[in-house]
This record gives sequence, structure tokens and C-alpha cells, in this order.
Amino acid sequence: MTESNLITLNNYIEGKFQNSKCNHWIDNYSPATGDLIARIPCSSTEDIDDAVTAATNAFNGWSSLSIEERADWLIRIADGLESRKEEIAQLESLDTGKPISLARGVDAARSIANFRFFANHILDHEQQIFEMSDATNRVLYKPVGIAGLITPWNLPLYLLSWKVAPALLMGNTVVAKPSELTPLTANLLAEVMDEIGVPPGVFNIVHGNGIDAGAPLTSHPKVNLISFTGGTATGREVAKAASSGFKKLSLELGGKNATIIRHDADIISKMPEIVRASFMNQGQVCLCGSRILIHETIYDEFVESFVNTVTNMSVGDPSDEATDLGALISAAHRDKILSYIQIAKEEGGVILCGGGMPLNHPTQFKDGFWIAPTVIDGLKPDSICAMEEIFGPVVTLHPFSNDDEAVEIANMTDYGLAGSIWTADSDAGSELAERIDSGMVWVNCWLHRDLRVPFGGVKNSGVGREGGDWSIGFFSEAVNICVKHN
Ligand code: NAP
Repeated sequence: MTESNLITLNNYIEGKFQNSKCNHWIDNYSPATGDLIARIPCSSTEDIDDAVTAATNAFNGWSSLSIEERADWLIRIADGLESRKEEIAQLESLDTGKPISLARGVDAARSIANFRFFANHILDHEQQIFEMSDATNRVLYKPVGIAGLITPWNLPLYLLSWKVAPALLMGNTVVAKPSELTPLTANLLAEVMDEIGVPPGVFNIVHGNGIDAGAPLTSHPKVNLISFTGGTATGREVAKAASSGFKKLSLELGGKNATIIRHDADIISKMPEIVRASFMNQGQVCLCGSRILIHETIYDEFVESFVNTVTNMSVGDPSDEATDLGALISAAHRDKILSYIQIAKEEGGVILCGGGMPLNHPTQFKDGFWIAPTVIDGLKPDSICAMEEIFGPVVTLHPFSNDDEAVEIANMTDYGLAGSIWTADSDAGSELAERIDSGMVWVNCWLHRDLRVPFGGVKNSGVGREGGDWSIGFFSEAVNICVKHN
């Protein structure tokens, strides 16, 4: 990329695109090629202060709109994004290295759907009235105030819009800090807000890294609510920073999800979905099943079919519609994943496929960040690679002899985000699901999302729930008004 077509982004504060006060920049690279594609402001406390001031100044006007008026704004934002849907997909694929088919079908589509969903969902939200013999209680959902939103790089606009939409709907004003690794579509969202005339200060974006921009946002005394999605270690820091000011806090953190294949699973017809659950977005989805637990009676048959399907996936050019898997987000992340594969070998694991650079990889991607989908057999269920979140295209395989043992292994990690169960007996699968310590369990499907249901993790996978009424509750303060009858 030459200097002339290098994308330069600015912060979006008080309705203006403006550079960071400190005039430092962060380089942003294409994961597929390793090329420099953009530079973003390396913002710091002063920029966060400006954005929080803008959000504070805008709060009275925005929060005094009726909820129908704010829902109408959400629809206009969705329309604005819809008109740039292909651009969202292209930017997301460029910025993350993910296949364009995924960026179109999941990232772009869901980002728009998030705004439409919350705009419509609020219309179904019935007024809550609790009658007493001598009084009437009425629940009012008031805005919390200034919402600080912090998001990761794996599903950039998808996860940002999942927070922005309910935050604005409920009357809060927003300061968002997207991941420094994937700033492009957050900027596009700011452009859409600007184009359609969202009042200045209602929505602000501050680009930068976690320490310089994220930390001052989470500890800012005027920020009333923090919604954070990211790693568990960062979540711990965010929780510490938010606690002294008693901010409302939602933490959507890491996972180490189990995929349980029961003895009666239809492994032939379900194999494409099981592979998708393992490797979608190169395994960089918090919900991916990175540990596959297989009933011992079908272990060999499953492993042969699974490895066969995985090795036939097309890994390469993210802009090709036929590509299944793209690049990893950064060189550092690739190296971290490689170090886990090395640990697996030292722990006695057998690499059945993958383990390094994809074979016959095109030269145009030689400087990008790639690992072929990797399947590891022979590790104990409590080995490092089966217990720690790798967040990449790596799965470990483990046999079990009965449901009790499957549950024991599934619940062995410190995480508790998601899981899936594959079985011909849906009732048995549903009962087994109740015994898995995680926020979400799918039976005979994976990532089959209804946006009304609660989303979130238990144990080290998070605190709180978002989605549907849970988002409405989190992004507001429920206040009771009790009126004694005359
Ligand atoms: P991360 O390193 O924790 O970063 C997440 C965000 O926090 C980024 O914007 C990051 O900024 C910022 N940040 C870093 N340090 C901070 C601090 N001290 N204070 C405030 N903000 C700070 O996570 P990631 O590597 O981007 O994302 C991968 C992780 O996210 C995985 O663990 C995955 O499981 C998890 N995840 C969870 C869910 C869920 O719904 N549960 C969904 C998606 C991803 P910079 O990156 O710009 O420095």
C-alpha cells in the first residue's frame, strides 16, 4: 500500500472527525498480506475526556426523546448501514483477514440486524405494572448515563453494534473504543451517524490501544456503565477499574467450549456443522467448540471423517467467495497459537492435520498471518491445550465412555461460555445440556441465534447477560414508582 492510498482514520467526537490530541499514530496491517493498510490515532486520556464531555453535553437532549423517537433513529442507522452493506463486508474482510463470504453473511448482515432488532424489540416490551390492594407500582426504564463500550477484533462491527444499538435506544450517550487491530468498520459506523445527522456527542468513537484509551474510559468518573467484550485477563482489569465508581458492568469474556458427540450422533449429516463450530472465523469466535468430546464407540469413525472434512477446507484468499478459512488477526496472535501447538507436542499430542502454515500457500500471502486448521489427538482432557483458551484454528479431541464423563470433562475448565451436543435423541441432549456449566448450549446446532435470548457466560467467561430484554435491562435503570390509591 502506498502512502497515497493508506487509510487515515480520526476519532469521532462531538459530531466531528478529529485527530487525537497527542498526535501519535498506530499502524494497522492486513492480516492476509501483512501490508500496512491504515493508521489510527493512538488516543489517550485527553481524548477520552473530550469524548466523555461531548457525551455528557448530549445526554439531556438524547435522553429526553421518547423511546419511539430513539427507535426511529436506530432504524435510520440500520438503513444507513444497509446502503453500505457490501463496503462493510469488504472492510471487515480486509481488516480481519476473514473470508468475504463470512463478512457478508455474518458480520455485515448482523451489524445491520442488531439495530433493526432492538428498534423493533422495544415495541414488544410491555409496561410492567404490579397492583397491590391499595397501590399501583409502575416500572420505569431510565437511561443510565454515559456508556463506555469496549470491543474486540474478531467480530468488530457485529459486536460494537450489539452494544451501541441498545445503549442508544435506552437513552444513553456513548463513548466507544474499538480494538486497535480492527478500526475500519467502527469508523464507517461513525460516518453513517454523521451522514444521517445523529445529534453531535450522542455517539463518539475514540481509537487507540487498551492501556492508553481503554483504561481511562473504564475508570472515568463520569462514565456510568461499561460493556466490555474481550479476553478474561483484560476483563479482570476492567472490572477493577469499574468497581470503585460502582459502574454498571457487563463482561463478555473468553471461552473453552466443549462439543459433545454422543454415541448416536448422525456424524455424516452433521459433520459440516460440527466443523463450522470448530473453525468458523479461523476458530476466532468465543463460542467455537475447541474441545471435541467423542463417545468411545464412534471415536475412530468420527476422527477419520472430521480430519477428512477439515483437510478439504479451502484456506486462502479472503476475497474469494469460495474460501472457507482466512488469516489470523496478527503476527503476535499467530505466534501465540503456534506456541500452544508446540506445548501440545511436548504434552504428547499427535497433530493429525495442520500445525503450521497452510500447504501450497499463495506467495501473495507469504507475509500474512496464517495457520492451517489444526486437529490434535492424544492429549489428556486436563492438558494445557485442552484447558486454556487458544482462540485459533486448533481443536483437541478426547474420548468419553458415558454422559457423566462427558459432563465431567466439559465442566473441567475455568470457563463457561457455550457448548454444543450432537445426538439423535434430542430429549437426552436437552437434559444433558442442563448439566453443562455454561451460559449457552446448543443441541444439534451451533450459533443458531435468536436475538431475544440471554447471551453471556458463567465462571471466568463473564458477568451479566446481554440480548433482548437482558440488554434493555442492562442499558437502563429500572425504577419503581409506587402510587398509593386515593
Ligand atoms: P482483549 O485483548 O481483551 O481486548 C478487548 C478490548 O479491550 C480491545 O478493544 C482492547 O484494546 C481493550 N483493552 C485492552 N486492555 C484494556 C484495558 N486495560 N482497559 C480497557 N480496555 C482494554 O481481547 P481481544 O484479543 O481483542 O479479543 C479476543 C478475546 O475476546 C477472546 O478471549 C474471546 O473469547 C473474547 N470474546 C468474547 C466474546 C463473548 O461474547 N464472550 C465475544 C468475542 C470475543 P486493544 O486491542 O485496542 O488494545
